[in-house]
Amino acid sequence: MFSFIKLFMLKIPLNLDSELGQLHSIASKLSPALKKIGINTIGDLLWYFPWHYDDLSQVKSIRELVEGELATIQVTVKSIKTYRSWKRKMIITELLASDDTDNIQIRWFRQKFVGQILKTGDEIYLSGKPQKNNDTWQMASPVYEKVKDKPIHSARLVPMYHLSGPITQKQLRFLINKALEDIKIMADPLPVDILNTEKYPWLHEALQEIHFPTDEQKLERATARLKFQELFYLQCKYQLAKQDYQSHSSYALVTQQNLIDKAITNLPFKLTADQNKALGEILADISQKKPMNRLLEGDVGSGKTVVATLAGLNVMASGYQVAFMAPTEILAQQHLITIKKIIDQKYWPEIAIFTRTNCRLADDSNSSKDEMIDKIKTGQVKFIIGTHALIQEKINFKKLGLAIIDEQHRFGVKQRQTLKQKNNDANVPHLLSMTATPIPRTLSLTLYGDLDISLIKTKPLGRQPVKTFLVPEKKRTDAYKFIREKINNGQQAFVICPLIDDSDKLGVKSVTQEYERLAKDIFPDITIKMIHGQLKPEDKEKIMADFRANKFPMLVATSVIEVGVDIPGATLMVIESAERFGLSQLHQFRGRIGRNDKESFCLLFTTSDSGLAIKRLQALSKTSDGFKLAELDLALRGSGEIFGTRQTGLIKLKIAQLTDVELIKKAQVWAKKIISQKKYLSYQDLQNLLKTLKTEMHLE
Ligand code: ADP
Ligand code: MG
Repeated sequence: MFSFIKLFMLKIPLNLDSELGQLHSIASKLSPALKKIGINTIGDLLWYFPWHYDDLSQVKSIRELVEGELATIQVTVKSIKTYRSWKRKMIITELLASDDTDNIQIRWFRQKFVGQILKTGDEIYLSGKPQKNNDTWQMASPVYEKVKDKPIHSARLVPMYHLSGPITQKQLRFLINKALEDIKIMADPLPVDILNTEKYPWLHEALQEIHFPTDEQKLERATARLKFQELFYLQCKYQLAKQDYQSHSSYALVTQQNLIDKAITNLPFKLTADQNKALGEILADISQKKPMNRLLEGDVGSGKTVVATLAGLNVMASGYQVAFMAPTEILAQQHLITIKKIIDQKYWPEIAIFTRTNCRLADDSNSSKDEMIDKIKTGQVKFIIGTHALIQEKINFKKLGLAIIDEQHRFGVKQRQTLKQKNNDANVPHLLSMTATPIPRTLSLTLYGDLDISLIKTKPLGRQPVKTFLVPEKKRTDAYKFIREKINNGQQAFVICPLIDDSDKLGVKSVTQEYERLAKDIFPDITIKMIHGQLKPEDKEKIMADFRANKFPMLVATSVIEVGVDIPGATLMVIESAERFGLSQLHQFRGRIGRNDKESFCLLFTTSDSGLAIKRLQALSKTSDGFKLAELDLALRGSGEIFGTRQTGLIKLKIAQLTDVELIKKAQVWAKKIISQKKYLSYQDLQNLLKTLKTEMHLE
């Protein structure tokens, strides 16, 4: 019975979704370790790409060897023996081999299998670093492989993988090679038109070549194709999402120019040209029935909130509703304050904040949660400020015209789906996302392929750049003296600490340590408070409110708590272990100071002496242009750094990079073409692909 089952199982043809165990017993044995590196199926295995290749393609004769230089030779085994060294009781395998030119002595230590695998007379490849001893060539622990048609560990460009746990390079190569042999027929998800036009290899060939390249050129084509595929899927998702959202209609919110003009005149400052332009673009978009999907991008402090609020005013004055969502309660709180400064008092009874801890109208009258939900449903309240919970929770609107999402890197498809059902008719709200992360244009194409973009490049007049210094450790005492002087003059300081380790997700440990050090040893006479992720929301709010009101002068904070708060009196910032942050993130931090007319200072400390780290931090002290810093970060450290640790899960690319500009553009052009043309949509394979991508989107 058992053998029957086994026989039956063996007959199931493998495909990319097959379990690893079906491939080979080694795969089942290693499966826990493979799972750890994200390999669950044969498809995952084939998409686990080498991080580099050892070029062992030149097979040399023994006579051509050069001492200490990595090389591959092809030899015949003359003798092989395994014994235990008497001194250290170590298993040693000794092999004598030769080719037409010379003999060579090989030794392996603690690898008893070698003696069982290799036999006298075997033709083998050996790759390693040779040495000469008394005129005799020797090699210690070389990679070995029997000569066959297609070597995978030697005599070629040999793939090297990132390993985990007990997995070895040889095992991984063996499994990948076996998978490629067992699944020769592989449906290609890319439309034939693309493969032909771009002259890309088919999927099987591409996978074969990326793992076991024939030559550099084929490797390059294979890499390009696989990168393209990944980017193409991503762009297809954006186009599908866009098409999907735009298949609905929104309310056409006609611009009430007089009202907007008047509100602008009443501002305590003049809008910058970029702010005016962005506002114009938004107002034009929302006056259409076609749903807006726009990203307002602008450096910290560039004044996005005002622009969004003015658009919101237009919406509420037309009798529709606005949901203004902030990433944290503290920021929601702050937005209410800002909005009240911009929107005339007569509208306050229709403006509300609704978060986990706050539920009141802008005129300060409290409501119970139920009452508020009711007021939103009946349309009595028109401008609602809150956190993302606003659209996730069971809140329904009467006529939600505009949804504003602040500091959200990408408005998730899932959230968009939720928004669709927020109104009691079929209209969806216009969408305005805002980000302060300056993103190089090429990157925004990848990250926000489905969004229109408004850019605020210039900062309001009169803003002074934050003076930034990388302070050497020996000047720390002087730095503290400087801070003390400023604080004695009534100014305020942030101290930002990075997380000490991964287990300290809320940053309690690092902040507590730094707080105690500062409070006890450095500034015992100054009131210092600390804020971190583990405090209760109401406690955090109280601390921020007190800091804003300048009730105490120094706040020690983690990077995990939102520092996106406007503290007008804060002119000083100390960042500890600054090398642990991305440049853009550091730039975000320092954007929190320098919001008044006083000179502001950002002091960076680092414990790192790596040249690269110092170079990055110096760049920060030299430029105050967020876009330049983002580009520099991208060049120096890759895209993950632009968003800091919090957003690394943002977009997961296995092989493509956000810097593959040409491929990204190409992928976008194809995605648009494929999704908009009927001709393509009749292809069964493509339909399946799009269906899979759609399902993925809903899960994201
Ligand atoms: P961010 O783009 O980072 O969200 P905010 O909207 O919070 O920036 O604006 C930062 C500060 O700048 C606020 O205090 C705001 O009142 C002020 N501000 C906005 N626009 C201008 C302007 N054109 N001139 C002067 N100050 C401005
Ligand atoms: Mg903001």
